[in-house]
Amino acid sequence: MEEIALADALARPRGWIEVIAGGMFSGKTEALITRLRRALIARQAVQAFKPRLDDRYEANFIVSHSRLRIETQVIEQAEDILERLSPETQVVGIDEGQFLGGELAAVCCRLANEGRRVIIAALDLDYRGEPFEPIPRLLALAEYVVKPQAICVACGHPANFSQRLTADARRVVVGADGLYEARCRRCFVPHPVPPSEALKSEAILESEAVKEAVK
Ligand SMILES: [Zn+2]
Repeated sequence: MEEIALADALARPRGWIEVIAGGMFSGKTEALITRLRRALIARQAVQAFKPRLDDRYEANFIVSHSRLRIETQVIEQAEDILERLSPETQVVGIDEGQFLGGELAAVCCRLANEGRRVIIAALDLDYRGEPFEPIPRLLALAEYVVKPQAICVACGHPANFSQRLTADARRVVVGADGLYEARCRRCFVPHPVPPSEALKSEAILESEAVKEAVK
C-alpha cells in the first residue's frame, strides 16, 4: 500500500520556484532569459509572462538591457497566468514580478505544486530601499533564490540598491534609462519622502516628543 503511494509520488512531475531578485542593472532579466532559453534548448514547453506596464523595447518579448529577448505574454496581474496557461507548459517564466500584485506568491506556489518549474525575476527593493511587496513572501516560499548585484556607479563596489535620480515620488516609474542608477549600501541615498509622508512622520515625532514631555 505504502509502496504504491510512494510510486505515485515519484511518478508525479516535480515543481519548484526560483527567484532572481535584485536591483536595476543587476542583470536579472538577462538571467531569466538565459534560463528560459536553456529550457527551450532542452525541448521543454515554456511560457513567459510580464506585466503590461513594462512597455520598454517590444510589447511581446522580454528584452534585457543587452537586447537578449524571448517571446512573452503581457498580463495585468499574476492571476491572469492561470487563465493563459497551456496544460502542457513545464516551465513558467515571469519578468518584473514586483508589479503583478498580491497574489503572485500564491499563483507561483500553485504552478509549482502542479509540477512546473517557475522562474521569477523581480526587484526586491523599491527606490527608497524598502522591501517591494509581494516579493519578500515569494522569496520565503521559493526553493532557490539568487541575488545578482549590479555595480555601484559611484564607487565600483557590488550594488544592491536602485537610486532614483528624479523627484518623482510614485513607487512605480517605468523605463530605467536615465532615471535610476545602481548604488551600493554606502552610496545609496533614500529618496526624499513625499510631502504627505513627511507630514505624517513629523506628526509621529511630535506625538513622541509629547510622550517624552509627559514622562
Ligand atoms: Zn558605492
